[in-house]
Amino acid sequence: FVSATQMKGTVEKEDENDKLLSELEKKKLSIQEVRRSLPVFPYRSDLLQAIAEHQILIIEGETGSGKTTQIPQYLHEELLLSVQGYTVKGMKIGCTQPRRVAAMSVASRVAQEMSVKLGNEVGYSIRFEDCTSERTVLKYMTDGMLLREFLTEPDLASYSVIIIDEAHERTLHTDVLFGLIKDIARFRPDLKVLVSSATLNTERFSSFFDDAPIFRIPGRRYPVDIYYTKAPEADYLEACVVSVLQIHVTQPTGDILVFLTGQEEIEACCEMLQERCRRLGSKIAEMLILPIYANLPSDMQAKIFEPTPPGARKVVFPTKVIVATNIAETSLTIDGIIYVIDPGFCKQKSYNARTGMESLIVTPCSKASANQRAGRAGRVAAGKCFRLYTAWAYKNEMEDTTVPEIQRTNLGNVVLLLKSLGINDLIHFDFMDPPPHETLVLALEQLYALGALNHLGELTKLGRRMAELPVDPMLSKMILASEKYGCSEQILTIAAMLSVNNAIFYRPKDKLVHADTARVNFTVPGGDHMVLLNVYTQWVETGHSLQWCYENFIQARSLRRARDVREQLEGLMTRIEIELKSCEDDTVPIRKAITAGYFYHTSRLTRSGYKTVKQQQSVFIHPNSSLHEDQPRWVIYHELVFTTKEFMRQIIEIDSSWLLEVAPHYYKARELEDASSKKMPKQAGKSKEELG
Ligand code: ADP
Ligand code: MG
Repeated sequence: FVSATQMKGTVEKEDENDKLLSELEKKKLSIQEVRRSLPVFPYRSDLLQAIAEHQILIIEGETGSGKTTQIPQYLHEELLLSVQGYTVKGMKIGCTQPRRVAAMSVASRVAQEMSVKLGNEVGYSIRFEDCTSERTVLKYMTDGMLLREFLTEPDLASYSVIIIDEAHERTLHTDVLFGLIKDIARFRPDLKVLVSSATLNTERFSSFFDDAPIFRIPGRRYPVDIYYTKAPEADYLEACVVSVLQIHVTQPTGDILVFLTGQEEIEACCEMLQERCRRLGSKIAEMLILPIYANLPSDMQAKIFEPTPPGARKVVFPTKVIVATNIAETSLTIDGIIYVIDPGFCKQKSYNARTGMESLIVTPCSKASANQRAGRAGRVAAGKCFRLYTAWAYKNEMEDTTVPEIQRTNLGNVVLLLKSLGINDLIHFDFMDPPPHETLVLALEQLYALGALNHLGELTKLGRRMAELPVDPMLSKMILASEKYGCSEQILTIAAMLSVNNAIFYRPKDKLVHADTARVNFTVPGGDHMVLLNVYTQWVETGHSLQWCYENFIQARSLRRARDVREQLEGLMTRIEIELKSCEDDTVPIRKAITAGYFYHTSRLTRSGYKTVKQQQSVFIHPNSSLHEDQPRWVIYHELVFTTKEFMRQIIEIDSSWLLEVAPHYYKARELEDASSKKMPKQAGKSKEELG
């Protein structure tokens, strides 16, 4: 690494670009030529043969070899030719993806390769967005969506092939699918099951699926030089920005991929990069900075794959800098990456089965992840990976592999779903890696407290309705409780807004004060959920005005997405026969409905700050919360996020007596007695309402 001020080599770079351009012109491949150039292509017929011979096949291949985009097409082409006769006409080929962004992007690529309109022959299905039709034969979907399809079609009768893709990710939903699909494959001998994975531990999959054969697609990989920092980086975001600039000015032309942990970080990094580029002006060659993360709208995602457009200045191809979450590790293949910058972190869900607390934590990634990340640099030519940590840290501080999600998450959702599928004995369910016993028990207890299961552990009527909604049990319960409190209109909006959470308010670095003032102007009594409701209501009143969003530092895209989600939920409400009712301006029914779903997430202000009621765990109000100054005595939070400490994000103020009303079997009056007022800190007196 040299210092960022050593900006040399701009002139040479332009020449190099010209050369590159003419080479690319020569090499410009048609989309069909690209297809034929992929590593999987020479194995097309061998692969189809193996699929014909075995019901279950494990497919292993490097990222970018064409597993996701090509194999479903090969099967579909075979169907048209009716050669092998194992795919039945009119049946679908389903391919699961752990991430929604990947499902959408891959489907759109395949539609393009097949010259069909997305949503016709090739479609995708992700939560709250179904882009398929009667004609769809290749269906890409999130693993969670396929799981939900079991509710309406327990034997997946409309599918001839199921591909569980990105199996190595071991998401909770993929792991549950393994068990369910292995089971139905036994009585559906005509169903073909493909489990496809990056080159990671594929023997595990084989042995789980009764020693199914592994088909290995030999990869093409160029060498990647790995560099470590000499000392740990205090600020990895800053280190990323500096590294990008250094690579850009000192290294030969090539696109750069940066791995960060989430949307906020990615946006911050992109802004910092834009800002430095502006300051350096024509001293450096142009860069095209592109973010990619789960909530990124699809039009923005598409930019990642577009060939770099000619630059505004003389330089023909600006360097692409892609700032991504670990979605770019294996799910999406971006061609042309030569440099990878890896700070070595990822955001992970972590669950404490003892306290029942789940939070998102930025943690060091595993060695396996780090190696996948480095691999992204060697797809088209020899590359370089800059690890922003020490070689020592790699060796001694990073785990070999990532712990499967099933072992570090709340299982409420999955347990409710399995119960609705009639699977009662969860202890003996065929899990590849079983979840910890305490986690299962806790999930059962929580569902019982929510009223979804009876004391025998059987699904109740409420539980059955809860399972109909494609959301977590607590959110589901909140929505269903709104019926009783006559506030379903408001609760639907809140549920929709929570689902686009954290992407509503826009905070550009150069207008922080304005943005924050705009945000404060939305404050209404009751808490953050009420603020979300207020934002949405005002937006609807302005006739969904873009100008209004702009003036108020609101991300219009997120609101449009919330509107879509709301519409979908509204449809589901009609299906489960819940009337839409409004409580007008009274916030109490709304907050009671939220309490009915989230009573587990209650914290009380004590002399030593906020503590969760049951576990006495210290938690803090997120600085962005509208209640940050108020410090009400009793609050309910939507989620916990651990950054420097456990922050409660999206909170409302409640009356502790509501807890007895909504969860009498969980809370006892004694637990909810307030400490006498003289023991309370002064600021508690500021709270607006007198509480229980
Ligand atoms: P694998 O699943 O084995 O990792 P993919 O099938 O996703 O591989 O990708 C194979 C190739 O298809 C990539 O190298 C890239 O050239 C191309 N490709 C995949 N997705 C897209 C996309 N959304 N846009 C453009 N090209 C893509
Ligand atoms: Mg893939």
